[in-house]
Amino acid sequence: MVEPAKRTVPEVDRAAAARRAVERRRARASLKRDLSMRVVAPQDVLTSAAADPESTAGSLRVPDFLTALPAIGAGKRDRILAELQISPVKRLGGLGRRQHDALRTWLDTRFPLPLPRADRSRLLVLAGPTAVGKGTVAAHIRENHPEIHLSVSATTRAPRPGEQNGVHYYFVDDAEFDRMIAEGELLEHATVHNKFRYGTPRGPIEEALADGRTVLLEIDLQGARQVRAADPSANLVFLLPPSWDELVNRLVGRGTEDAEERARRLRTAKVELASQSEFDHRVVNEDVATAAREVVELTSDSAR
Ligand code: 5GP
Repeated sequence: MVEPAKRTVPEVDRAAAARRAVERRRARASLKRDLSMRVVAPQDVLTSAAADPESTAGSLRVPDFLTALPAIGAGKRDRILAELQISPVKRLGGLGRRQHDALRTWLDTRFPLPLPRADRSRLLVLAGPTAVGKGTVAAHIRENHPEIHLSVSATTRAPRPGEQNGVHYYFVDDAEFDRMIAEGELLEHATVHNKFRYGTPRGPIEEALADGRTVLLEIDLQGARQVRAADPSANLVFLLPPSWDELVNRLVGRGTEDAEERARRLRTAKVELASQSEFDHRVVNEDVATAAREVVELTSDSAR
């Protein structure tokens, strides 16, 4: 009699499975980083998990998901799990309908998403963390959408090679910048990265808006807040990186800052990402042309 062959897992399969397990763990670690850095909204992760339980989001354990969220420690995590009646062994993709809905409601209360408002003006502000590519998206809009008036800021920094006065910036000295502030010529102004001053000249914007044109400002977060205070109907857009790791890659890749400056900017980026709920819209800059199109589609012209 022939013995049935014992089922042994070939060495190559085992190695491939181990590699896949490592990749999945890495993907989950990256997703947790994105949640803690607020690069992704927890509600979006829950939606992806429900849509595909086999995905990275779907395979994340609920307790790990909760502790990845800002300001949720082990104690809070356990209280939330008990309150929502979710077992700690559950994965996000394995929640029943009732548990899924309970978690979603809890997330909406704890991490409210910005609600787009209908009464927004034609003044569009593009802001976002350092190295996310605001300048590149704005440059793409300048090249391809002449109907949109792109504001030209004043700055005290020196021009970089290829930058033209009056096109990329108005390059001014400190005395001229002080004069512009004193005369009320700037809609907003701020010192960026602790170094140079940048400000938005008010006149050209008022003229363009009076002509019925859409105006786009590409400015930093402090400036976006000042514009919001000056004109509460301004439309604020937050540009997000596809992931935290990608933001780090972009900052390292462009090689314009030394290690200390990069570390400082990354700390700033973390704080900046946390402010995205103040914005009316969020656009992910995975690809410049797509992000630029999404920003343009937010303008009142195409929304009407
Ligand atoms: P850069 O020197 O690389 O051109 O710009 C540095 C930073 O300054 C960018 O984050 C850009 O968004 C910001 N910025 C440019 N113009 C203005 C402005 O008029 N006001 C404010 N608040 N920030 C600006």
